[in-house]
Amino acid sequence: LDPQVKKQVLRKLTYGLYVVSAAQGGELAAGTVNWLSQASFTPPLVMVGLKVDSLLHAVVDRARAFAVNVLSADQKDVAQAFFRSTEVRDGRVNGYAFEPGATTGAPVLAVVPAWFEARVTDAVKRGDHTVYVAEVVHAGLRDPQARPLDMWETGWFYGG
Ligand code: FAD
Repeated sequence: LDPQVKKQVLRKLTYGLYVVSAAQGGELAAGTVNWLSQASFTPPLVMVGLKVDSLLHAVVDRARAFAVNVLSADQKDVAQAFFRSTEVRDGRVNGYAFEPGATTGAPVLAVVPAWFEARVTDAVKRGDHTVYVAEVVHAGLRDPQARPLDMWETGWFYGG
C-alpha cells in the first residue's frame, strides 16, 4: 500500500458535516463529524466513526445514544464551532441554544434544519475511531427545503 496514494484516494470519498451530540448524567458532549452514513433501511441504521480519545466518544459510550444535527449549506460557522472542545455555558453549547431530544435526551441544536436521534446497537472498537452502529428512533424537520452542508465545498479534509 502506497501511503500517499491511499491518502489521496481516501480523500476522494464524499461526505456531509454533522454535529453529533450526546448527554448522560449531567455530562454533555458535541462535535462536528463527517464519518457518518445511513447503513440499513429496516431497521433504519446509521454508522458513525468517533475518535476514541474524545469526550464525545466517552459520553456516547455511556449514553448508548446520540443526536445527529444536520447542518445546512450556509452553516459552515456552526460546523467550525464544534471542532473545538465542548463548552456548556448559559444554557448553550459552544455558543448555540439546544434542547434535550424528545426520545433520548441527546442535545438538539435550535439552529439546524433537521435532526435525528439514534440508539447505539453495536460498537466496533478497532483503530483510533470506534464505529457506532445505531438505530434511528426519532427524527425532526424544521426546514424541508434546506440544502445540506457538503464537506467538499468547505475545503476541509478529515480522512486519508
Ligand atoms: P475533546 O477535545 O475531545 O474533549 C473535550 C475535553 O474532554 C478535553 O479536555 C479532553 O481531554 C476531555 N476528554 C477526552 N476524552 C475524555 C474521556 N474519555 N473522558 C472524559 N474527558 C475526556 N471527530 C470524530 O470523532 N469523527 C469525525 O468524523 C470527525 N470529523 C471531523 C472533520 C473535520 C473537518 C474536523 C476539523 C474535525 C473532525 N472531527 C471528527 C474532530 C471533532 O470535531 C472534535 O474532536 C470534536 O469537536 C471533539 O469534541 P469534544 O468535546 O469531544 O472535544
